[in-house]
Amino acid sequence: MMRRLPVYFLIDVSESMVGEPIEQVQDGIATIIKELKTDPYALETVWISIIGFAGKSKVITPLQDVITFYPPKIPIGGGTSIANGLKELMKAFDTDLVKTTYERKGDWKPIVFLFTDGIPTDESTSAIELWNSNYRTKSNLIIISIGDNTNLNLLSKLSDQVLLFNNTNANAYKEFFRWITASIKATSENINNTSQEGINLSKANGHIIEKIDTAKQFEIPDDNYVVLNGKCSHNDKLYLIKFRRQFEDFGLMDLQSKFYKVDGAYKIDEITYKEFSNHQDYLLKISTDELRGNPPCPYCGNRYALATCVCGGIHCIDDGVENTCPWCGNSGFYGSSESGFDINRTLG
Ligand SMILES: [Zn+2]
Ligand SMILES: [Zn+2]
Repeated sequence: MMRRLPVYFLIDVSESMVGEPIEQVQDGIATIIKELKTDPYALETVWISIIGFAGKSKVITPLQDVITFYPPKIPIGGGTSIANGLKELMKAFDTDLVKTTYERKGDWKPIVFLFTDGIPTDESTSAIELWNSNYRTKSNLIIISIGDNTNLNLLSKLSDQVLLFNNTNANAYKEFFRWITASIKATSENINNTSQEGINLSKANGHIIEKIDTAKQFEIPDDNYVVLNGKCSHNDKLYLIKFRRQFEDFGLMDLQSKFYKVDGAYKIDEITYKEFSNHQDYLLKISTDELRGNPPCPYCGNRYALATCVCGGIHCIDDGVENTCPWCGNSGFYGSSESGFDINRTLG
């Protein structure tokens, strides 16, 4: 058997990724696979696995060769547990990787691309220690912060290769995934030609991919997003409503008000959502005073995806018709409320 070059994608699938980021990652992975299928070196050596982490983590596609690889649907879950993602990765290393023995040469050092866009919601010290003591030197981990809303101090504890990806538009994503493809190709070509261990990262456009100084201390940013979990009152299916933080300037010194502007309402798959979610904490609350905009339901076309019931459940409604809450079965007519009210908020 050929020595394999295992490539792992460890992907943050938390709720803040819903919408454009997850769609771009989905397309990006498909593009990488398509490209690698035309590359003789990659076809010979590269094996790929995809692991997702949110509140919980799971192998989405187990390690397999490029030719049989079919890009999976990337799920969404609640919470951001880097610790669970790392544990899943270490478990995959333990089961997947062929070690070098007297009789045979094992796999090449695996490459791991970790994508994350958020702030971890859990305690991760023990997973980080285990990673650094037993796994770090046996792999090449490249961490990519999607946007600057991540905890760079924590990411810097895992690898010397921490990169900031400025995900400003769809073109940036395209260029970013081209860079990953080129890096995988270069590494597999180098391994095939020189039989030398090591990673060859391709040269990156500095406007899109910036290297982070891992010795530096960074400020830990606030949450950029509010994500609410709703249910369609026509088909009982789940969706997420995503809001992005904005500042409003009153023109007076230091008088800035913070609010969240709607980004969209997105369909999600209930089964995978539950598999990847950590459901212990639905206690975060946000006042609707801080939320601007109410998108239509992504399933039935009801005019508003954000209505709350006395039970606390969020669901879609339309004007002037009787609406039934899909969470508790209560029905009634809705009017807009003058005073703000608190609604349940997910962990992001
Ligand atoms: Zn609906
Ligand atoms: Zn209800």
